[in-house]
Amino acid sequence: MSRNLTPGTLILLMSIMTTIASAQIKPAILLSNHTFSSGNPIIGNLSLLGYAGNFKLIGENAKLFNLKNSQLSIRKKYVQRDSKWYDLDLVAESGSVRVEQSFRIVRDDFHKNRVIAHRGAWKNTGASENSISALKHAIHLGCQGSEFDVHMTLDSNLIVNHDPSFKGEFIHTSTFSDLKQLKLSNGEHMPGFEEYLGEGMKQNSTKLVLEIKPTISKERAIQSAQKVYELVKKMKAQAWVDYISFDYNICLELLRLDPYARVAYLNGDKAPGLLAADKLWGLDYNQSVFQKNPGWIQEAKAKGLTINAWTVNDPKLLQWFLDQKLDFITTNEPELLLKMLGK
Ligand code: MG
Repeated sequence: MSRNLTPGTLILLMSIMTTIASAQIKPAILLSNHTFSSGNPIIGNLSLLGYAGNFKLIGENAKLFNLKNSQLSIRKKYVQRDSKWYDLDLVAESGSVRVEQSFRIVRDDFHKNRVIAHRGAWKNTGASENSISALKHAIHLGCQGSEFDVHMTLDSNLIVNHDPSFKGEFIHTSTFSDLKQLKLSNGEHMPGFEEYLGEGMKQNSTKLVLEIKPTISKERAIQSAQKVYELVKKMKAQAWVDYISFDYNICLELLRLDPYARVAYLNGDKAPGLLAADKLWGLDYNQSVFQKNPGWIQEAKAKGLTINAWTVNDPKLLQWFLDQKLDFITTNEPELLLKMLGK
């Protein structure tokens, strides 16, 4: 039967199935933070989405952690050691509900220099945008974050690319395996999201700024957010990932799945107060938006939102945004910005 389905019909059917699946929230263990540092052994608070839960640490690493009134911390003698991260297994129970989940608790050695490499560090390195090597260059440079773009394929897999099409093939009407055959300009294949995330998780100095791209319908957009979130959870990548999107439905879906997710909105059309009311983590707006709305930087700071400006490449503008004390600046010139910061 599937031989007779057109891509459009297939997408419609998948959208209906997604709508049915998204009507319910599965119980899930949430953790408010996934890092520790020598100065701060407290990791974060545990909760069970949709339920009041009791938690127990299980597995071989349970002895490394303390749990008191749902607050998770790491034992001091382990804070000093050299491991970049520890995996922790947990069980939560609430009546007949029982959930087991594993988290990666990561030493916070992440850079705090505000520099976000836009689609990785590609412009001055010869790497293709959004390629694994662009990510590796951004990590090697010592950027605080490396941004990349994720789309969902026809067969609901996730792949890393900026545009909705590549070499004339639309991602939403192409299968993952077909897209993987295509070569980027530097000879690498287009990275799958899982592969890309796996590469980024080999280190703990550069965060992964994950943009989920808008797509052809609200249902598919929400499904993209769910797929991305599920993979982040499965790979235990929460410590690394900050989410961004132009699609507000995607932002809200991520927060529905995990109110602790760090989600920033890209489209520039909402005042900071609105984002704060919806519990977003930050705003990540085009540089021109801050010039048109000069009060938004102070308003965002007052509301406790993080602020990022994109894509700032001009030295004078980079300096202006540095002077405004933004949390992040997204640039195609990470080398220049790091140099301006004396790094
Ligand atoms: Mg992007």
